[in-house]
This record gives sequence, structure tokens and C-alpha cells, in this order.
Amino acid sequence: MKFELDDYHRGVADEELIADLKRVALEIDKKSVTRDVCDEKGKYHSTTYIRRFGSWYNALEKAGLEKTRTPMNLPEEELFQNLEEIWIKLGRQPRYSEVQKPLSKYHVATYEHRFGGWRNALEKFVAYINKEENVSSEEAIKGLEIEPSTKHKTSRTINWRIRFIVMKRDNFKCKNCGRSPATDQSIILHVDHIKAWANGGETVLENLQTLCSVCNIGKSDLE
Ligand SMILES: [Zn+2]
Repeated sequence: MKFELDDYHRGVADEELIADLKRVALEIDKKSVTRDVCDEKGKYHSTTYIRRFGSWYNALEKAGLEKTRTPMNLPEEELFQNLEEIWIKLGRQPRYSEVQKPLSKYHVATYEHRFGGWRNALEKFVAYINKEENVSSEEAIKGLEIEPSTKHKTSRTINWRIRFIVMKRDNFKCKNCGRSPATDQSIILHVDHIKAWANGGETVLENLQTLCSVCNIGKSDLE
């Protein structure tokens, strides 16, 4: 027999899995079932189907259902940004099983299809972020000319990649009060210029810090 990882529902017959998928389709009155719907309403997780039948596509075929398409035309940027948001909420690297609604806008399967595996998706994400890191330091802007219209070398806007780098460096915690979304869901983190942009501060990693929305408002009141 082929070596396989432990599957919680290993003992369940193919027929039982297929029957439950058909039941879900009937319940929602649709000709097809998406992985998200299966995970929410089905007795078995969609990954059980994929392990058993090779792909979600095959499972739908066996159940006589229409085959759904995973959106393939989402821009990479959008998929990466969603990954960034989950990462910030968790305060750490998201795990395979966590990448689904409501935490994530897109199911882990979307990442797998798009990047040829979950691990590959994470690696592409990290590479994309690292590219930004190289251009957003004091050192990197040294040789840049000051733009006369803004009197700055950098733009005021903190893009989501810089935001991620700063928050990761600050361990996804407010530098002032130490609170984080990972332990308190009501906490919203911001990235703030230490020396205000209006006072000549640049948008570089050394001049940025993570603050929660409460501390950030407190800070601007003092300025
Ligand atoms: Zn705070």
C-alpha cells in the first residue's frame, strides 16, 4: 500500500463521502459545491475529498456535480495583500488549515493552484516583500534626489509591503502599549512615522514604527 499521511476520515467509504457531498448540494439547492461551502456544511472537510479523490474537481465529478472553477485571474498583488492581512491578525505565519473564511478572503486552494503549492505561495510572498526591504532603508535612499514638489526623497504613503516589514520587525505589537491583534481582536495596528513626514521625516524602515490605533491617536493629539 502507498504511504499516506494520517487522515482523520480514513475509515469512511468513498460512497459515504460522495453521498454527503450530494446532500450538501441538495441542501443549498445548487448544481455544484465549492470547498468553502463543503467545509461549512459538509460532514467532512474538503481536504479529505482531495486526499481521497486526487482533486476537488474529481470529487465533484464522482458526485455528478458541476465543476467549479477557482478564480485564476485574481492579481498576485491581491492574493499577497490578503496573506499579509491574515499574517498581521495572527501575528505569525498562517498555517495551511487557517487559510479559509472568515479569516481569509481566499481559500488555501486558490493559493495552491496559483502558485503550485502553499509553500511556494509563501516563498513568493516573502520574496516580493524582501524586494521592498532593499529599497526602503536610510541606506537605500541616500543617493536619491530630493523631489522639489514634496521636499522629500520618499512618498508619504506607507505601502502594504513596508507596513508588513515594519510590523514583522515590531513583532506585530504596538511599540507603545504592547497590545496585538493576535491576543485581542479589537486591536488595530498602524504604521506611523516616528519623525512626522510633515516635519521632514522620510518613509524608510528606520523612521517607522508599529502603533495601535489608540496610541496612534494619542500621539497625534500631542503633536
Ligand atoms: Zn498601543
